[in-house]
Amino acid sequence: MRVLISLYLFQKNMCWIYGYMGDATNTHQILLRWLNRLEYRGYDSAGILVGYGSEQKIVKSVGKVSALTNKVSSLIAESDVYTYGIAHTRWATHGGVTEENTHPHTSTESDIAVVHNGIIENYAKLKKWLIEKWYTFYSETDSEVIAKLLEDNRDGELLSTVEKTLPMLSGAYALLITHKESPRSMVWVRLGSPLLFGRNKDGIYFSSDAQALAWVVDEILHLEDGELAHIHEWNYSIRAQGKNIFRNLEVFDEKDLLVSKWDYDHFMIKEVDEQPAVFKRILKWRVNIEDMTLHADAFHGMQNENYKKIVFVACGTSYYAAFLGSYRIKQIAWIHCDVEIASEMQYLPLDVNDETLYIFVSQSWETADTLEVLKSVRDKWGNTFWIVNVVGSSISRMTDFGLFTRAGAEIGVASTKAFVAQTACIFLLSLFLWSRRNLTKWRHDQLLQWFLEIPDLMEEIFEQKKHIQSIGEELSKYTDIFYLGRWYQVPIAFEWSLKMKEISYIHSEAYPAGELKHGPLALIDENVPIIFLHPKDMVFHHNTSSLQEVKARKWLICEVWGDGEDADWHIPLPDTLDELSPFLTVVVTQLLAYYCAKRLGRDIDKPRNLAKSVTVK
Ligand code: GLU
Repeated sequence: MRVLISLYLFQKNMCWIYGYMGDATNTHQILLRWLNRLEYRGYDSAGILVGYGSEQKIVKSVGKVSALTNKVSSLIAESDVYTYGIAHTRWATHGGVTEENTHPHTSTESDIAVVHNGIIENYAKLKKWLIEKWYTFYSETDSEVIAKLLEDNRDGELLSTVEKTLPMLSGAYALLITHKESPRSMVWVRLGSPLLFGRNKDGIYFSSDAQALAWVVDEILHLEDGELAHIHEWNYSIRAQGKNIFRNLEVFDEKDLLVSKWDYDHFMIKEVDEQPAVFKRILKWRVNIEDMTLHADAFHGMQNENYKKIVFVACGTSYYAAFLGSYRIKQIAWIHCDVEIASEMQYLPLDVNDETLYIFVSQSWETADTLEVLKSVRDKWGNTFWIVNVVGSSISRMTDFGLFTRAGAEIGVASTKAFVAQTACIFLLSLFLWSRRNLTKWRHDQLLQWFLEIPDLMEEIFEQKKHIQSIGEELSKYTDIFYLGRWYQVPIAFEWSLKMKEISYIHSEAYPAGELKHGPLALIDENVPIIFLHPKDMVFHHNTSSLQEVKARKWLICEVWGDGEDADWHIPLPDTLDELSPFLTVVVTQLLAYYCAKRLGRDIDKPRNLAKSVTVK
């Protein structure tokens, strides 16, 4: 039953929680500023509760944060004093997008309020039980059930009220709870959905996202799953299963998470342009350029030379990064490698033994499905390693070994530099595993030598931006686009077909070129352009044959690399090694999709219905 419910609820979660409590008197402005800054992330309604002593105000609005801002400014004067508050952007899972369903949700007398990320799986049963008691509900959400349960369990102390209530809830969630009677206290709960708090000289800040906290605090506190924290004025106590837990705040130095779009039209194109710099940063952290070796400490946990099998676990773009990584692990490190989609892996048996290493890849912060598998592998004492972009994220705190991809903050929902950083790190990992196996140093150095050239080669591609833009704009005239490639290009074709859908809303498909005649040919005609990734690599001639098959039918070809002889549009690329070719084709595919979506006037950084971080199953 539980599995069925989870399957039913399989969806992306774009909700965010924020909170503040402290000496500042303009909490409404603090929260709105925050909401506005993270506004790009996608949600369907937003609400805040602000308070001063036992006086509270709740404002909710459907649609963009700007609508909420307007409403707040008509209801709250700038000079009004509020010293605490909670805020939420909702991505509806239970009940439509209406003001009633927007958070915060409250008890009958509105004295207890809660903002909730996630899903309460047993909410229907609880709601029925509460209605039978006498409670009435104003919303269709699962979240309101929490507020009413807190009311039902009320016993004078907010902390014990919450502790009595939590065992009744099942699901994955993060909660931030206030009570009018205790205006200097809040309770924060974490179970399967992230929430952090940080402190600076003005007060305490809560956020479900580390990046948002980076703007304001110097010290941060993480809760582990199943823990709750009671914050009273400047003090906090952490509890789990009725017992106190002692944990100090940590210094938070992720100031590079601060972001600005500068003069760019979109974050996405800014992030595409940052890729050579990201590459250089990875080189600096991972490679000893003087003697062409890898920093062994960067791959701590990989020292076991006996791994006979690597299993990548990831979702979405990280899955495609791992998919590409698996080609390199097999081809360069010569280790058996599987790639699993985390949301599926949860239902499959785990092969855990000393010779198998599970690598969890998540560019973002807190990918729920990936974390779920990580927990299962860890429960069985399996070997785990993580590859994550955001320092301080849940995955990186749950396993012993791993590496940060250090792409910096990525704002565009369509991943560009984070994907490239992931694939660069996995490439270095395969090289490291290879070098541990003492295969030829010559080949190792050759690969590394060419790897160092990639930032310059990317810059060379940028010189063709105008040309690529004109092709991207042409592509915007079609309703279907196919991506084809072979060998190392297959993951790039899949990834950018996905991204083309995401940002341009054009239907797109990707296939290994060899699969063309096994089905997709039936769909293609002169109205379906084909983006053919055709590097001058080992499989060049096989690709040329596939290209001829397409040409013979007079279909439209955009040839990336190759010689352009049979292409309608051609984008030549500089030479590199076969293993490194995806670092170049990916830049072209990013630019094609970007310019295509831009011509269509799409909301490129915030495609409809999507979010950057998927924190709920
Ligand atoms: N399940 C809750 C709702 O539908 C919370 C959704 C969210 O995480 O935004 O309101």
